[in-house]
Amino acid sequence: MIKNIAIDGLSGAGKSTVAKEVARELGYVYVDTGSMYRGVALYLIERKIDYKKEKNVINALKNIKIDLEYVNGEQQVILNGKNVSTDVRNEKVGIVTSKYVAVINEVREFLVEIQKELGKKKSIVMDGRDIGSVVLKDAFLKIYLDATPEARAKRRYKEILGKKTDVKYEEVIEDIKRRDYTDTTRKHSPLIRCDDAVYIDSSNMNIEEVVEEIIKIYKEREK
Ligand code: C5P
Repeated sequence: MIKNIAIDGLSGAGKSTVAKEVARELGYVYVDTGSMYRGVALYLIERKIDYKKEKNVINALKNIKIDLEYVNGEQQVILNGKNVSTDVRNEKVGIVTSKYVAVINEVREFLVEIQKELGKKKSIVMDGRDIGSVVLKDAFLKIYLDATPEARAKRRYKEILGKKTDVKYEEVIEDIKRRDYTDTTRKHSPLIRCDDAVYIDSSNMNIEEVVEEIIKIYKEREK
């Protein structure tokens, strides 16, 4: 029997790390939907397409194929046959995705269709913004993972510092707040807290504690 887990929440709440670990513990497949939206943004950036014009983004969709593959259990995003898993993680891609790509209904329909199919084949742990509300409405377990902007900015700041040194905390928190705003106020499938989702505030929890909590809720529900 398929028992999908949907994890939604704001940027930097720790969704992907937690989702990946929950999937590993349960032997499920992890699906990171953010990287699919990022794949569309990367295509536009690489092709120097003016993504500020909605019709350009919609037109580009017919030339975009996004596939997910798994190497040693790690999800790989394949954009038109090329593995772009590392390229999509870049900060600029994240900003363009949230502001110009994920707001377009046609983009969402294009990706949601692929995501819904994945949820029908085998049990998955999927994270994003509209998973409990749109993609996996009948999920066995829905989690809304939250954390204060400060806690999320601190985590992201540390993460970026590991890669480059010219980063300011103030810029990171501003970026987080901007992204929160676009993701919660957009017209199509904004991030919402579903009534049937379990709310977890991870501001003062580490990854292991959040994973443990989710597994506990999952096991209780299975009884
Ligand atoms: O999760 P991640 O930060 O990689 O997602 C990048 C952006 O993609 C988010 O800021 C959000 O705007 C968008 N997104 C979305 N719906 C999803 C997953 C991501 O709108 N299911």
